[in-house]
Amino acid sequence: MKITDVEAIWLQLPTVDERCDGTQDTLVVRVHTDEGIVGIGEVDSSPMVAKAIIEAPMSHGIARGLRLCVMGEDPLEIAPLWDRMYQGSIFFGRGGAAQQAISGIDMALWDIAGKAMGQPVYRLLGGGFRNRLRAYASILFQDTPEATYELARSLADQGYTAAKFGWGPLGKSEATDIAQVRMARKGLGDDVDLMIDAGLCYDTVTAIKRASQFAEFNPFWLEEPLHPDNIEGYAQLAATSPIRIAAGEQETTQPGFKALLDAGIAVVQPDVARVGGPSQAIQIGRMAAQRHRLCVNHSYKTGVSIAASLHFLAALPNSSLLEYCVEQGPLRQTLTCEKLPVVDGYVAVPQEPGLGVTLNEEVLARYRMG
Ligand code: MG
Repeated sequence: MKITDVEAIWLQLPTVDERCDGTQDTLVVRVHTDEGIVGIGEVDSSPMVAKAIIEAPMSHGIARGLRLCVMGEDPLEIAPLWDRMYQGSIFFGRGGAAQQAISGIDMALWDIAGKAMGQPVYRLLGGGFRNRLRAYASILFQDTPEATYELARSLADQGYTAAKFGWGPLGKSEATDIAQVRMARKGLGDDVDLMIDAGLCYDTVTAIKRASQFAEFNPFWLEEPLHPDNIEGYAQLAATSPIRIAAGEQETTQPGFKALLDAGIAVVQPDVARVGGPSQAIQIGRMAAQRHRLCVNHSYKTGVSIAASLHFLAALPNSSLLEYCVEQGPLRQTLTCEKLPVVDGYVAVPQEPGLGVTLNEEVLARYRMG
């Protein structure tokens, strides 16, 4: 089997605003083969930036577009192809957008491998520790604590056993921060796990203070309270925090995750559409497992990324939670024909060959750009 084409398809809603909602646009990757098997993947990046990284012509040997790195090659040679993409993009890559773009092709290669071998991807990653993951509803804090309370109540009523609120108004004032978290807890009740995503809004001293202030509301974790470059701050926070510290969604490389684990955080959050695909996400998860820390996906895109997340998480011993974005936009809700629904608080790991999701061609056509 040979790779005959790599498509990078930029999708975007008619209106994109500043709220930190990654479901407003995306980059879908399709890898075609001469045997008719097509693999699909997704990139979480700035879609146009990642599209350029995939489609770029050769500048020289270590500055070539990712498509050129894999064209004509055997798609089942996933590790060598990953290395070709990494080595071929050293000049502009070694992390960041290039690593995010590699993710989409890597994901599609695993999809092809699963389809070719008649196996779901998690089986090719070593097999399943579980066949379903407990979904935590992932959503942004609302503008007022009262609105957050109403949203939390509604998520609890829908049967979620865990929910995360993030970004938005957090970091504006101490009183607002505490009121938001208090009302989120009140809306969820005491039996639903609450996660708080601070969205990079604190300096180290404030984060240490908030971690102890939030503790009375018994959060399962406090996520990304610090700038991703503030590794020293993470070490100070992890050493003093009464609650778990989670981070990693901005990291794209293994050294980035190693630094966070060395700093002592309790939960790493690789995004399979950012870290280099399932090939890298599983290795980051295993690195966390060796240190007896939790690995939970970051994912705030479409059903393609959710499916890929389910596969790598299923193949890890230290993962049982799934970030499940509950934004209601059409890319999140309708891009894949399979809805990967929450049943009794859990999402089943797809058992079909490959990733187990297919694209809705009508949705693809409607939001396609360029
Ligand atoms: Mg987050």
